[in-house]
Amino acid sequence: MNDELRIDTALTHAAKQLSDASDSPRLDAELLLCRTLDVTRSYLFAHPDDTLDALATERFESLLQRRASGLPMAYIEGRREFWSLPLMVSPATLIPRPDTEILVQQALMLIPRESAFSVVDLGTGSGAIALALANERPLASITATDCSKDALAIAQENARQLGISNVEFRAGNWTAAVTENQYDLIVSNPPYVAENDPALAALSFEPQTALRSGADGLADIRLLSRQCPTILKPGGTMLLEHGADQQSAVERILLADHWTNIACVTDLAGLPRVTSASFNADIDVSNPSSP
Ligand code: GLN
Repeated sequence: MNDELRIDTALTHAAKQLSDASDSPRLDAELLLCRTLDVTRSYLFAHPDDTLDALATERFESLLQRRASGLPMAYIEGRREFWSLPLMVSPATLIPRPDTEILVQQALMLIPRESAFSVVDLGTGSGAIALALANERPLASITATDCSKDALAIAQENARQLGISNVEFRAGNWTAAVTENQYDLIVSNPPYVAENDPALAALSFEPQTALRSGADGLADIRLLSRQCPTILKPGGTMLLEHGADQQSAVERILLADHWTNIACVTDLAGLPRVTSASFNADIDVSNPSSP
C-alpha cells in the first residue's frame, strides 16, 4: 500500500480546501499543482494516478495555504493575462481586470495605425493599458507614469519581457511626471473605490492606494479632471475608468471643470465604466473651475 498522495486525490482535497476562498477552487487547485510539479494541466488529467513525493506534497500544501488565506492566484503565479499579453504582477500592482480592456478598446479607436500619436497612461500599475496600446499601435509614443516606484519597476520589466519599446516610464503623481508635455490622448484607471465600499474586503491583498480614493472614491478623478487640461493637446481626448455607480458624478466633475463631449461606455457586464471627454482649448486652464 502506497501512502503517497495521488494526483486525483490531491486535487479533490485541495478543491475542498479552497472552496471558501475561491470561486473556482478546482481550477485553482489544478493550476497550483501544475506549478508544484512543473507540468501542464493536460498532464494532470492524463496521469491521475501519479503520486506526489514528500517534497511536492509540502510545496503544494504551502501554495494551497496561501490561496486559502485569500491571496489572489495572480499574485501566487506572479502573472495575469491582459489583452492577450502575459503580464508580471506583484502586490505593488493592481491585478489587471477584464473590464479595463474596454478602456483599451476605446483608446484604440482613437489612435491611428499609420501615423504618430502621443498617449499618456497615468497610474499605469503593471503597465497593462500602456503596453496593450503600445503593442497594438507601434507608431504611437506612449508615456506611462506611476507614483509607486515598485509598480513602475514591474511595468518596465513587462515592457522588456514583451519586447515593447514605444513606452517611456516616468515616476510621479498624476500629471506631475509629465507637466512639460501635451498628449493627443490621456488614459487612466485611477483608484475609485469609496472608503466604505464592502467590495474592499475582498481586495485586501491589492495595493490600497491603487483602489481607494477618499470617502466617495472620486478624489483622484477630481484631481485628474483639474490637472489634465494642461497636458492635453487641443482636440485631444481623456478616457477615465470609474466605478459602475459613478457615471453621473464623474460627468458632473468634468462639466464643472469645463470638459466637453462627455460620453460613457459600458463594460462587459453592461455597467457604465469608461468616460471620455475633450477639452475646449479656449478655457483658461490655469483656473479650470472658474466660469
Ligand atoms: N475595478 C476595480 C474593482 O472594483 C477597482 C479598480 C480601481 O479602483 N481602479 O475591483
